[in-house]
Amino acid sequence: MKVPKAIKRLCPYCKKHTEHKVAQNKKRAASSLTYGSKYRARSRGKARGAGNLGRYSKPAVTKFKMTGKKTTKKTDFRYQCTVCKKTHMQASGIRAKKVEFV
Ligand SMILES: [Zn+2]
Repeated sequence: MKVPKAIKRLCPYCKKHTEHKVAQNKKRAASSLTYGSKYRARSRGKARGAGNLGRYSKPAVTKFKMTGKKTTKKTDFRYQCTVCKKTHMQASGIRAKKVEFV
C-alpha cells in the first residue's frame, strides 16, 4: 500500500481542510507492570515467596493455535496538521501487508 507523505484533510481543530503530514504509529511494547500483574504486586511488596499465587498456569500466548494467523496488519495512521501542529488518528485501519510512504 502506497501512502502519500502529505495530504489535504479536514482538521477538526482548525475546522477546515489543511495540509497534513502522515505517519504510521509505532507499536509500543506492552508493559509488564499492568494492573493485575504478578510483577506489579511483587514490586509493591505484595506477592512474596514462591509459587504461582493460586493462579492456574497456562501456556504462552504464542503457543495458542490461532495466534499469528493473519498475514496483514491494520494501518494506524497519525495525521499532523501543519497549521496548528495537532495530531489526530485514522478512524479505521485498512489491512495491508506493507505500508510505503511516497
Ligand atoms: Zn489544524
